[in-house]
Amino acid sequence: MKFPVYMDYNATTPVDPEVLKEMLPYFCENFGNASSANHKYGWTAEEGVSLARKRVADLINAVPREIIFTGGSTEANNVSLKGVAEHYQGAGNHIITCTSEHKAILETCEYLESRGFEVTYLEVDGSGLIDTEELRNSINDRTILVSIMAANNEIGTIQPVEEIGRICKEKKVLFHTDATQAVGKIPVDVNKMNIDLMSISAHKFYGPKGIGALYVRSKDPRVSFTKQMHGGSQEKGLRGGTLNVPGIVGMGKACEISMNIMDTEMKKHIAYRDKIIDRLLKMDDVHLNGHRTQRLTNNINISIGNINLESLLGDLKDIALSTGSACTSASMAPSHVLSAIGREDSLARNSIRISFGRFTSEEEIDFLTDKLTGSILKLREEAPEFRITK
Ligand SMILES: *Cc1c(COP(=O)(O)O)cnc(C)c1O
Repeated sequence: MKFPVYMDYNATTPVDPEVLKEMLPYFCENFGNASSANHKYGWTAEEGVSLARKRVADLINAVPREIIFTGGSTEANNVSLKGVAEHYQGAGNHIITCTSEHKAILETCEYLESRGFEVTYLEVDGSGLIDTEELRNSINDRTILVSIMAANNEIGTIQPVEEIGRICKEKKVLFHTDATQAVGKIPVDVNKMNIDLMSISAHKFYGPKGIGALYVRSKDPRVSFTKQMHGGSQEKGLRGGTLNVPGIVGMGKACEISMNIMDTEMKKHIAYRDKIIDRLLKMDDVHLNGHRTQRLTNNINISIGNINLESLLGDLKDIALSTGSACTSASMAPSHVLSAIGREDSLARNSIRISFGRFTSEEEIDFLTDKLTGSILKLREEAPEFRITK
C-alpha cells in the first residue's frame, strides 16, 4: 500500500497508464496544431482529435459532431447555462435547477439572475433526490432550460435522469445535465435519457485535467447556444482556441477504457462500497449522507456524531479523504449539499467523503474501514464528552 491511501477519487483520479501512453506521442512528435490543414503535422493531430471525438461520442451514444471539447466541466456548465440563456431569451427567461448542484451551476445561475433571468431551485429530499412531480409543476411557458446533475459529487446520489429527460421532452424544454461524476463510471445514454446538453470532464474518470466536453444534441431538437469564447474557428466556431490535442487524445482513450470495463468495474466497486457502508452503519451515531442504493458506485459520505472531527482527521493522516466543508473550523459554513439534504449544521460539519476507484485494492478498502471504525471507537473512548451514553 502507498501512503497516504488515496480515497478522494471524486475530487480527481490518477491518469490511467494506458491513457498516458496514448497521449505521450502528441507532445513531442505529433505536436501539430489540429487546425493546420496544409501539412502532415496538422493532419496527424487532427486524426488524433477525430478518433477521440468518436470515442467520447460512443461512450454516451452520441455522434461525433455533437461533441465540443472544452477545458472541463466548469466551462461546459458555464457555456450550457449562459449560452442557452442568451440564445433562447426571446422564448423565455426561466431556468430550473436544484439546490445540491455543483457551484459551477449555482454560481452561474446567480450570475444569470443578476442579468434578469429567473431561476427556480428545486429542493432535494433527505437522500438528495429531486421530486420529479415538483419539477413538472415548476415548468411554465417561460421555462427554457432544466439543469439537473446526473450524480452528486459530494453525496453520490444519482438523480432519475431518464425520467427528468422524459418530462423535459414532453414539456418541450431543453435538458442539460452536469454528468461529470457519472460519465465513465455508470451508463449514460443521451438518447435513452433525452439529454440535450451534457457536461463531461476527463479527470474524473482517469483522463487528464483541464480537458472536458460539452455534448450538444444535433437533432430532435437541434440545440443552439450563443458562444462564450470568441476568436477562433475551432469546434465549429463555438469554442475558439487551439485544441489541447494531448488532453483530447487522453480523454478519448479514457472513454474507450471505461466503455470496455464499466460493467466489471461497477460490480467490483459496488461490492467495495457496500462493504464499507455496512460496517460503518453498524456503529452508533454514524449516518450515511445520500441515497443508500441510488448512488455512485465509488462514493461514501458519512456524518459522525459524538466525535471531534479535527481529532479524527488527525488520526486518519494515512488516508487522503475529503470533509463536508471547505474548512474544518466550526465557524465555517457546512457544505451546501449537506444543508440541502437537511443535515443539521453540527452533523454536517462532522462529515467525511470517502471515494475510491480503479486503482484501489481490497487491502486498501479493508485498511480504510478498520482504521476509520477503530479511530471513531478510540476517540470516543478517550474523550468522554464525546462518548455515546446508552
Ligand atoms: C469536478 C466537477 C465539476 C468541475 O469540473 P472541472 O472539469 O474540474 O471544471 C463540475 N461538476 C461536478 C459534479 C464535478 O464533480
